[in-house]
Amino acid sequence: MVMNKNLLYRSIPKVDVLLEEAEIQELIESYSYDTVLDSIRVELDQLRAYIGTCTDEENAQKRIGELRRRIRRRVEKLHTPNMENVINATGTILHTNLGRAPIGEAHMRHIAAIATGYSNLEYSLQAGKRGERYSHFEDLLCRLTGAEAAMAVNNNAAAVMLVLNTMGKGGEVVVSRGELVEIGGKFRVPDVMEQSGATLVEVGTTNKTHYTDYEAAITEETKALLKVHTSNYRIVGFTESVSVAEMAELAHAKGLPMIEDIGSGVLVDLSKYGLTYEPTVQDSLKNGADVVCFSGDKLLGGPQAGIIVGKKQYIDRMKKNQLTRALRIDKFTAAALEVVLQEYLSEEKALKNIPVLRMMTESLEDVTKRARSLMRMLKNTGADADIHLEACESQIGGGSLPLERIPSMAVTIRPRQITTAELEERMRFLPVPIIGRTINDKILLDVRTVDAGWCKVLAKEWKESRICEKETELIED
Ligand SMILES: *Cc1c(COP(=O)(O)O)cnc(C)c1O
Repeated sequence: MVMNKNLLYRSIPKVDVLLEEAEIQELIESYSYDTVLDSIRVELDQLRAYIGTCTDEENAQKRIGELRRRIRRRVEKLHTPNMENVINATGTILHTNLGRAPIGEAHMRHIAAIATGYSNLEYSLQAGKRGERYSHFEDLLCRLTGAEAAMAVNNNAAAVMLVLNTMGKGGEVVVSRGELVEIGGKFRVPDVMEQSGATLVEVGTTNKTHYTDYEAAITEETKALLKVHTSNYRIVGFTESVSVAEMAELAHAKGLPMIEDIGSGVLVDLSKYGLTYEPTVQDSLKNGADVVCFSGDKLLGGPQAGIIVGKKQYIDRMKKNQLTRALRIDKFTAAALEVVLQEYLSEEKALKNIPVLRMMTESLEDVTKRARSLMRMLKNTGADADIHLEACESQIGGGSLPLERIPSMAVTIRPRQITTAELEERMRFLPVPIIGRTINDKILLDVRTVDAGWCKVLAKEWKESRICEKETELIED
């Protein structure tokens, strides 16, 4: 049968007719006239285009019938936050694409309270006049790391930029070739140095840099020695690098400061918990570094920030640098840093109350218990799939401890009616999307990064969506 396209086009309601309809009026009432009108126009255009290419009359009719529902969905989507929670079942604890370090709920309540009202962010209640936004966490940082002074900026990339701009601008900063790293998201140490106005002087080779290499590179123009912790990769085998202590000793003998970009900024010796030793901020300062900078949302488990600690004379200069105004943290970050750092006053509390540390140190036994419970919940949803437990390995991620693997437990799923790829996609379209890993045609849900609360949400979503069944209403274009 030949389709009568003209007839179909003519059956599409006109904009002004749609605008008079009760259902559309209701939308305008709840949202706004402009967004509704805009959505009507877009949907009408799409509908005409669809009919233009459609070869099946029944489908075209069906599509016309969906018009009002599609308009509603478009308007609603525009007014619903696109950024939403996802369930991270990848087992990667610091997943940069999924927001790196989650903040604990108790901490978040404090941050929310600060953010929804006015606060003493930059006001000294003692003096009754202007105060400093770093004052809320500077003493804490000094106490925890042994530094004389501290501050924080937007992120560690900004911190490196500020440190080099303040201490190296117009002169030379010496750094090992083995440490000219690129951190995810195009943060390249050589480029940042150039931007900062400091001239990079590279010494040594990729795998070996000696004390004498640094010594020979120091000239009248040298402003500082820089060490960059190669957080996201390891050079193994025939290697040699110069320790912080040796670099600091050399720098000080020449009257220069020594800077370390330590990357992850751990405050707890992780080797006590069976993980690889990652240099702590305290150790770096103890070994003689004059300024150390690190991320707030990597192993520290706090908000995105670049924390700078060290000698007061340098930190004071950074606080006065004009760049600081452009890189400064907001009240959310200041509030979050204070409460997260307070947990570190007791290591036990830090491990319990900071989600990143809790996930990293949770015993395999406890993870397995939770995995078993999740497996049962998923089986009880009646899903047509093979669901089992399987040992797996979690990663730290976020460019930290690249070789570390933490033994963990996963729930594995192989659907019977649909393909694994389809299931993977459907999970991404759930009201709370679930992100897992696909290995050997199975989906692995690593439970180390899914706490008990999220396990319940996950199981509930499975039940409600009948996600493994061939016919499901779940996916819409
Ligand atoms: C991650 C990292 C950075 C960048 O830190 P952000 O907080 O992500 O800006 C800089 N240097 C090192 C060594 C890092 O590991």
